[in-house]
Parts: sequence; structure tokens; C-alpha cells
Amino acid sequence: MTYDTGLERTLVLLKPDAVARGLVGRVLTRFEDALLKIVAAKMVWMDADLAKRHYFDLEERFGPAVYNAMSEFMETGPVIALVLEGVGAVACTRKIVGSTYPDQAAPGTIRGDFAHMSREYANERGIAVANLVHASGNVEEAGREIEVWFAKDEIHDYPTTAQRYLR
Ligand code: ADP
Repeated sequence: MTYDTGLERTLVLLKPDAVARGLVGRVLTRFEDALLKIVAAKMVWMDADLAKRHYFDLEERFGPAVYNAMSEFMETGPVIALVLEGVGAVACTRKIVGSTYPDQAAPGTIRGDFAHMSREYANERGIAVANLVHASGNVEEAGREIEVWFAKDEIHDYPTTAQRYLR
């Protein structure tokens, strides 16, 4: 690793609903405003294989109905995949993204401000909870997910003005 080991990296996906709704800029702004540094970015249209590698334990955690709904949703359009770097970047990003179910996500969070769907609504209809953003749940998950999405040479080391505040 070439980056400061006091910093963390986390994987973020702007899900198909965020891209289709034209919210990419507004969502990215929230991370940039918090001085999280974008060190990798690309647009990808997920297929079933990538969905399985990314959400490898979702079926075990929630059952096949939720897994299938999520897999289908994630393949409805392209996602923007990002690696963000910063102090405690994993938890910081989760805080900015908000709780999983938008009806419970606090105002000021991405999910709380740009969506309102509940788990119950999604489950009654057999659809995914469209909640705009994926962000790694913990440091270990972040390491695994970054490897799923990015080759080492797709992650960049470059200076930003934000770094002067991290010394
Ligand atoms: P998070 O994305 O907040 O880490 P999880 O890892 O628990 O949440 O779930 C992964 C994704 O699966 C959620 O972001 C959401 O889009 C979807 N999801 C979770 N629970 C349900 C559910 N009961 N019904 C439909 N989709 C769900």
C-alpha cells in the first residue's frame, strides 16, 4: 500500500437509481464536501456474476427473494463504482449515506434526503429497496469489495488540497 496507513479506503456504488435519476453529481458532492478523496472511479453495467461476487452473502442473510430482487435491480442500468479514501473513511461514508431503509434514514443523509422507501413496501411487492448508494459496512468488507471492483492499477495516488488538513 502506498497510501498513508492511518487512512482507510472504502467502496461506494452509486446504484442504478442514483444514475438514472441524475443524482451522480449531487451524491458525489456530499463525499467531496466531507473531504473524502476519490482514488478510483468507473461506470459499470453489472451482470449476474458481478452481482453474486459483490452481494455474495445477501441470499444467506435475507433469502432468495431479496437476493433476486437486488440482483435484478442492480442490473437495470449502470452503476458508478468509487473508492473513497480518508480518516475512518468506512464509517464516515456510512454516516453520510444513512440507514439502509430510506424511510428510517435521517434527514441530511443521502438515503434520507433522496428516497423514502420502506423495507415493508419493497417486501410486499418483491422488489429491491432502491436506496441510491452502497457503501462498505466495515474495514474488512471494504478490502474484499475493493478487490472485487478494482485492479490495483485502477486505484490512484495523487495529492489533493484536502491532504494538508490531514497531516
Ligand atoms: P446496506 O446497503 O445498508 O449495507 P445491507 O447490506 O443489509 O444494507 O443490504 C444490501 C442492500 O440490499 C440494501 O442496501 C438494499 O438495497 C437491499 N435490501 C436490504 N434489505 C432488503 C429487503 N428486505 N428487501 C429488498 N431489498 C433489501
